[in-house]
Order: sequence, then C-alpha cells, then structure tokens
Amino acid sequence: MFAADESARSPETLNDVSEIAVLERLFPRLPVATGQLLGPGDDAAVVAAPDGRFVVTTDMMIQGPDFRLAWSTPHDLGWKVAATNLSDVAAMGARATALVVAIAAPSSTPVWVLEGIADGLRECCEALAPGCGVVGGDLSASDALTLAVTAFGDLEGREPVKRSGARVGDVVALAGRLGEAARGLEILFRFGVDDDGIPDAARAAEAKAQYPGQIAAQLTPVPPLDCGPAAAVAGATAMLDVSDGLALDAGRIARASGVGIDFASSALGDRLEVALGGGEDHGLLATFPPGVPLPDGFRALGVVTAAAGQVCVDGQPHTQGGWDPYRGWDGLAG
Ligand SMILES: [Mg+2]
Repeated sequence: MFAADESARSPETLNDVSEIAVLERLFPRLPVATGQLLGPGDDAAVVAAPDGRFVVTTDMMIQGPDFRLAWSTPHDLGWKVAATNLSDVAAMGARATALVVAIAAPSSTPVWVLEGIADGLRECCEALAPGCGVVGGDLSASDALTLAVTAFGDLEGREPVKRSGARVGDVVALAGRLGEAARGLEILFRFGVDDDGIPDAARAAEAKAQYPGQIAAQLTPVPPLDCGPAAAVAGATAMLDVSDGLALDAGRIARASGVGIDFASSALGDRLEVALGGGEDHGLLATFPPGVPLPDGFRALGVVTAAAGQVCVDGQPHTQGGWDPYRGWDGLAG
C-alpha cells in the first residue's frame, strides 16, 4: 500500500501504542528551532520574535486530493508539507523560524509512517531553512491521512512583500523551477498507475527510476527559500510563490495590484502550457522596479502592464487555468 519498502519495518501500528509513546518516538526526530524559548511538552510553545512581528501561514495535505500513498513515501510527505509552508513564508520576504504540525491518521497506520514523516520534516528544515524547527503539534485519528502545518517567520526588520505592490513597467521575474512538478505529476498519472488507472507503488517506482528529476520536483520540491528575503532586500514590489500555476498565480498579483502581467513566451521554455498551467514548483514570482539588478536566482519572464487584472503572453490575453482544490487541474492533461 505504501511507496516505501515495508519489508524491514516493524508492523506496530498507532493502535498498538499510546499517543504519548508515539510522541516520545517522534520528538527526537524533529528539528529544534533556534528561536525556541519553550519547546514541546507544555500546552503551548514559546518562540522568540526579535522583529516584534511574526509572519504566519498554514497549509494542509490530505490523502486523496493532495497525495497518494502509492506514490509518496512518508519521508516525501513530511518534506513536501514542510517545503510548501516554508515557501509561503519566503514569499513574504521572511525567514522561517518555527513549525507546528498536526497529523491525523487511521489507527491502523504503522508507527514507522509517522516516524518517516518526522524525518522528512527534519531533513527539509535542515536543508532549506536551517534554524527552523518543529515547536509543537497534535496527533489525532481520521480515515484519511491528514497533515496540517502552520509556519512562522521573521521579517528581520523588513516590510512584508505583498501581492498588491506591482507597478506598471516593473520587471516580472521568477526564481526556481517552472513546470517540472507538473511534468512529474503527469508522468505519475501516466506511468505510475495499474491497468485500471489506480496509483500503483511498483509502477511508480519504475517511473521514478526513469524520470527522477521531474518526479522529485513533484514529490519533494526544493523551493528557493533564500530568494524570498533576497528579493525583499532588492526592493521587490510584489511577490508570491507559484503553487497553483504561473498564469493563475500571476493573475493574483495582477488583480491585487490593479495591473497586468505580460509574459514573453521565449522565457517560458518549450512546453508553454505546462509552464503556464503547472503548479507545485513553489518558485518565487516577484516584480522589481525597472533597472534594479535582479537578485541571484531570479530570471526575467516579462513585464508589468497597465491592462488591469489581465495575464498575457506576448501581448495576447491568456485564459488557461491552474489548480483549484475543488475543481482540480484545469487546462492540463491528467
Ligand atoms: Mg503561496
């Protein structure tokens, strides 16, 4: 049932052990936040906020709409739920300081699954946001494995970079990948399923061996978190992370700022529809005043125009959709 190799694992399930015993096994695997003044063990944690303000965001992943156990290992799930939350903090121009993590799982879930999720959370924080740690959380039972993370961040004295500050003439730039995660999902839907179209761990393993880069981009994204604070320092006028598709997310900046965004197709690679519609790469899309040197990691994709609320490609209005949790992918195969 799980993507991970189960043969060497203890069959012990959550049903076999108490919540306290599970927590005692998870805590040592979780990353410790450097700003943690009081960590897990009390009713609430205490985290330093040296800026006097803190950034806070939340993002959840549900088995079914957000992931398949046949495709993602527990480690992948912990990594991805950390990465998506850390990315939202970076998109404000902030640096992540702490996570709280709530997990609901069927009582038949093996304990090693939760241990794997904890390992993924730790490795993602250590790799992408050193100093950020898990300061608390909650465990509960549910039919579908559910991960809910809340992330906190420090603005380090800067103003937050909002979606509403883009100005006509600004340069539109992106840090990170574009369309890779969508290609990974496309590959999993095509090759990671059995003959009835049901997600299949063995088929997915074959697909992973054949397309490791694209599938890793989907299952364990590596958002360019350092580019968020760097963009803020460089004077970015608007920013967000591309979670639901470049065109859809650019439209969010366009509407919030009362401007238009015109992409140059030559900057979007050879699969235009995937570049515009594919989400989950968690690259950072930002606008910069003209003449400002783009921070390391950013590349120009287009310009901000006066066509309020409109997203264009080479001057032509673009209407393709992206990801909507209630409607699924619009405009992309699979
Ligand atoms: Mg976001």
